[in-house]
Parts: sequence; structure tokens; C-alpha cells
Amino acid sequence: MMRPLEIIGSAARDLARAYGFVQPLLSVLREPTEPGHNAATTSTPGWPRSAPSIRIEGLTFGYEPGRPVIRELDLEIPAGSTTAIVGPSGSGKSSLIRLMLRLYAPQSGRILLDGCPIESLGVAHLRSRIALVPQDTTLLHASIATNIALGRQDTGHADIARAATDAQLDQLVESLPSRYETVVGERGLKLSGGERQRLAIARALLRQSAIFLLDEPTSMLDSKTESAVLQAIRKIAANSTTLIVAHRLSTVMDADEIIVLDQGRIHERGTHADLLATGGLYSQLWRRQAEGNEASRDQ
Ligand code: ATP
Repeated sequence: MMRPLEIIGSAARDLARAYGFVQPLLSVLREPTEPGHNAATTSTPGWPRSAPSIRIEGLTFGYEPGRPVIRELDLEIPAGSTTAIVGPSGSGKSSLIRLMLRLYAPQSGRILLDGCPIESLGVAHLRSRIALVPQDTTLLHASIATNIALGRQDTGHADIARAATDAQLDQLVESLPSRYETVVGERGLKLSGGERQRLAIARALLRQSAIFLLDEPTSMLDSKTESAVLQAIRKIAANSTTLIVAHRLSTVMDADEIIVLDQGRIHERGTHADLLATGGLYSQLWRRQAEGNEASRDQ
């Protein structure tokens, strides 16, 4: 039986051929696979179970020698929980997501799912258990329906429409003459950054993966759309172990735990209420964002 990522790969190849050009399917597939990985590693079917625990042990990583962006990071993410990673720009948040996907290998330390190091899984198998909402979603030059279903050929229209509705994409689709058959992507209808984010969330809703990784999933949405999209995110997060990276703290205030990274290290951690009470970096960032929101409302 084909695994979901293989199905995605083969669907992408077929569609790219059909439309006469090759376009990267997802940013995750566009980025380099971690050098030196063992492609022949066997994968245990059905593993990890839904919503595994994630343990990060002594993780150190840098893109260039002698310049670590993640420094001896230790983190335990309980099975089924939602953990947010926040922190200043350049603190290593997206790099952590890339390491989870094995786009890069750490210089030292490891990441374990339910106690098993991710290097012992095949890369394709690992990624097939992860739903990713990247910072910027690459669209296939194909219909909106194909882009949402992405590789899940067995998905019916009703499921696609439900995912689009949950992701707040339905109003846009209904306004288009060809609705779900509207071709998007290169040489098709251009979607805005926020529309692409919502499409990525609809895609993730359909995938029902064990692990749900979101990198700035609401950065391009207005606050009304953000709160509706957050409801959809909570729906996926309920059945997955979720890691969400965000600058906008309103996106993460409901997380079970918020990790504040600074220069690749954990600066502080806790719930939203804990961190506000501590009066540290998180509460400064929160205050700054609240003042920014007030200023923009007053304009
Ligand atoms: P932001 O909030 O701005 O997205 P971040 O916390 O997600 O930032 P990362 O993207 O993980 O930060 O980057 C951490 C550091 O690594 C930064 O100094 C960045 O410039 C550097 N970096 C990121 N990607 C690469 C790359 N491909 N090659 C070299 N350096 C990189």
C-alpha cells in the first residue's frame, strides 16, 4: 500500500506532467533533505501512533560551523498537547520545525517520538505522519479542490468543502465562477498570502496526522479571520501533538505550554497566565503587541 507522502509525490508528478511544467509541491519538498540520511531505513507501519510524545534532548544545530542557532535544547512535549514556540526574530523557531521534518540534521542531540529517535524512521515515513502549515504555501497549478485534497485521491467533494469551510476559505470559493474547480497557482488565479494560509490549513484538516506543525499560520490574517481559523486549528490539534510557531501571541495564548526561545535557548516557559505573571520577555512582547493593536484601532 502507498503511504500518504508517496501518494502526494506521485500525484504531484502526474499533475506537473499534465500541466506541462514542474513546480515544487510544498515548501517542505522544495527544501533539501537532511544530508547523509539513510533512505533505506525501514519504517514501522502505523507508527508513531496518533499524537506521539515529542522529546528533544540536548539539541544543537547551526547552518554554518561555529554559529549555532539552536543550543543544547531540552524539551518534553506531552502526547496530544499543544506547545507554542515564540521568541524574537532569529531565535531559532523555524529551524526547530525544519529539524523535526529532518530537512537538516542536528550537530548534536536528538528528537524522539514516543521514545524513538526520528533518524530511525524513513524520511518519507516521518513526513507522512506530519501535517505542516508552512510560513508560505506553494500551490500546485491545479484546481482549488486538488490543492486542498493534495494527494488524497479518495477525498470526496463534501470533505473538501467542509475543510475549506472550517478554514474560512468557503466565502472566497463561492465567489468564484468555477468555485472549487478554479485553477490557482502559477498562470492561474493568484491567491493572497492569507488565502494561501487558509488553503494550507484546509489541507492539514483533511490529513489528520499524528503531528501537526504550524509555522506562523495566521501571520497574514486579519484578527476576525484569525479567530475563526484558530477554531479550525484547535480542531486538528485535538487529535494530534501540535507545535505552533508564532509571532502573534493571540495565536498561541491557549496553548498548553508556551516556550519562549531566545538565541536558540529556552528563555522562559509556562502557560500564558504563568508567563504574564512572571513579567519577563513574554509579558513584554504581549504588552508591546497589545499597544500596537490599540494604536492601529485608534488610527
Ligand atoms: P523569524 O521569527 O524571523 O521567522 P526564527 O526564530 O524562526 O525567526 P530561524 O528562521 O530559525 O529563526 O533562524 C535562526 C537563525 O538562523 C537566523 O539567524 C537566520 O538568519 C539563520 N538561518 C535561517 N535559515 C538559514 C539558512 N538556510 N542558512 C543560513 N542561516 C539561516
